[in-house]
Amino acid sequence: MTFRPCIVCQHAQSTEVFNKPYHLTGLGEVALCITVCDNCGAVYQNPLPDQQKIRKTYSEMSNYTNPGRDGKPSATKVAALDRQLAYLSKFMSPKGRAFQVGCSDGYTLHRFQQAGWKVDGIDPSSRAIALAKSQYSLALNKGFIEDFNSKDAQYDLIILTHVLEHFVDPKAVLLKCLAMLKDGGHIFIEVPSLIDQESWPTSYFTFEHLSYFSPLSMINLMKACGIEPLGPVVTDLTEKDPYPIQMCHGRKGKISPLIEKDQQALSMCQAYVNRDKARWQDINHKIDIGTAEAKNIAIWGGGVHTAQLLEETTLLEHFAPITIVDSDPQKWGKSLYDITIVAPSTLILEDPELAIVISSFVFEQEIKQTLEANHNLHASIVTLYS
Ligand SMILES: [Zn+2]
Repeated sequence: MTFRPCIVCQHAQSTEVFNKPYHLTGLGEVALCITVCDNCGAVYQNPLPDQQKIRKTYSEMSNYTNPGRDGKPSATKVAALDRQLAYLSKFMSPKGRAFQVGCSDGYTLHRFQQAGWKVDGIDPSSRAIALAKSQYSLALNKGFIEDFNSKDAQYDLIILTHVLEHFVDPKAVLLKCLAMLKDGGHIFIEVPSLIDQESWPTSYFTFEHLSYFSPLSMINLMKACGIEPLGPVVTDLTEKDPYPIQMCHGRKGKISPLIEKDQQALSMCQAYVNRDKARWQDINHKIDIGTAEAKNIAIWGGGVHTAQLLEETTLLEHFAPITIVDSDPQKWGKSLYDITIVAPSTLILEDPELAIVISSFVFEQEIKQTLEANHNLHASIVTLYS
């Protein structure tokens, strides 16, 4: 565990709002601690789990590559790109060179390329880089942006969509991006938004998100890096994302790094933590009812959501043996709470005494529909959110 100063203002004092240990696939026990900066109101994990472990996770286990759809983007992903390109088109015409940090399987850059940009990007996952090549014929860079050796300032646009919340030092990443930008070049950022805590889903605070941005803390961070925010931060609660998102962009320029305190962050986070406790009690109740008759239980999903599920519910106290399955081969053979994760093909769907608990907020319906399409299915399915 590593002490972490404020991600925006470097202040050392913060107020803890959440602190809980979880078992994580391939990593063992890791504590999730969320704090709010006493000086500027930024929200972030502190202390941080070991950085080597974090890098190992992203290199070997990251799975932001549209699994289970043969590499095809989900409807949500397609809609996100429609939204992002429409937003950017209000400010700039597609010309010149765009670079994406955390480019995953290349779908975003493929869309930007179709819109007229010359594209380049980097991602730590070799699987993602291979998919970008095979799906979209994009030759992208494998690695971490912090280590990327870029030739001078050459880009007109740098894209950071749903990545800034994953970095240990988002400020250092933005400064690196600035160095890669031409003078007057633009940075486009989309992240989950810390607005309206009523709309945050169960376990909004997660090991994978090291920082949490409100519109104000994002503006503060941009200014602290010397990025001139252009236009207000646009938030969106209506999209199909599991949480509200916010988009903003700024320009490389000279700006005074004046920080305005986010006064609402602390009370919002505290209210959310209390509400989340009550929601886990509801989920536990659904599991109790759905697995009451089961002689075997399978949990579908071997990721962070399942780590939270096993920590927050009484599932592990059930008399029936528990199997964990995941469609991602990277997880097979690794264990979570001493249960080895196996392939979904090992499930005996004909077994009427098997209850399959779908452990995913985002993909719950998709997994359910896939299971129900199997004519041999006699196992029961337990959904937690619908
Ligand atoms: Zn701060």
